[in-house]
Amino acid sequence: MRRIVVLAGGIGGARFLRGLKQAAPDAEITVIGNTGDDIHLFGLKVCPDLDTVMYTLGGGIHEEQGWGRAGESFAVKEELAAYGVGPEWFRLGDRDFATHIVRTQMLGAGYPLSAVTEALCERWQPGVRLLPMSDDRVETHVVVEDEDGGRRAVHFQEYWVRHRAALPAHAVVPVGAEQAKPAPGVLEAIAEADVILFPPSNPVVSVGTILAVPGIREAVAEAGVPVVGLSPLIGGAPVRGMADKVLAAVGVESTAAAVALHYGSGLIDGWLVDGADAGEVAAVEEAGIRCRAVPLLMTDVDATAAMAAAALELAEEVRA
Ligand code: GDP
Ligand code: CA
Repeated sequence: MRRIVVLAGGIGGARFLRGLKQAAPDAEITVIGNTGDDIHLFGLKVCPDLDTVMYTLGGGIHEEQGWGRAGESFAVKEELAAYGVGPEWFRLGDRDFATHIVRTQMLGAGYPLSAVTEALCERWQPGVRLLPMSDDRVETHVVVEDEDGGRRAVHFQEYWVRHRAALPAHAVVPVGAEQAKPAPGVLEAIAEADVILFPPSNPVVSVGTILAVPGIREAVAEAGVPVVGLSPLIGGAPVRGMADKVLAAVGVESTAAAVALHYGSGLIDGWLVDGADAGEVAAVEEAGIRCRAVPLLMTDVDATAAMAAAALELAEEVRA
């Protein structure tokens, strides 16, 4: 049985995983999820990326939106607002609230996030093993510039959701990462993997944050198995979201090739770019990374499964 490890963020990671499950139905898939986006709201611990993966693979996701629950209502949010309690810019639905209440309750009882995530997955049966990158608190902050030119660090969600990444960003800092330890099972899964995949997740605040947990980047680089990634950028722009803004903040150009070079040949062996970016294949290969151009739009599960199959095929080429 093929053991596949995937380092995943939210929407891009979750949608890719749905295709991967179809392309490799017999594989044992371990997902290492980003928790740098986690935020405490209304006294509750919210893990947006883990939940997006869990709901998407478990059939509870709001399909068009890509995050949150299907059939959602917002009574709790409205009641909180009536008390003047915010933030008003982070949308949490009633069904979603239940997840955060269960999580917070279990954390309060002393269970680590990895055990809590496993318990939540008992309900959702995502068909993969979902591990948070770490049980320790890591919080991505973005150093932004205010209108008066002053700089301050804000929580990633404030930058991303409240300001829609419209404030000039100067740095992205995974606060707490240096002291964090990989969650139980993370390094073991990487060491035992037959192939490691980077889905088209945000290279800075999703995959980059996971790699910032000491030991994970090293484990991936030293696993001795093919590591293949898929570009989240097509034609020089993110397919959705504002990844270009955080790439700029860390000094990386918004092209499929630049992202591959940012990961580097010391980390990844293979890279898929979209057909629209076929002209970038040579530059990636020159950097010592095997590269192919294939359709990379996750329009439906079949198209996504074809992307996953192409990634696994490239991994086999690397292995040979
Ligand atoms: P987030 O945590 O919800 O932001 O999700 P991820 O980090 O997992 O993925 C976000 C990235 O997915 C964005 O940079 C998008 O460009 C990328 N993405 C979304 N849909 C597609 C798609 O259909 N094809 C490709 N190649 N990338 C996509
Ligand atoms: Ca995210």
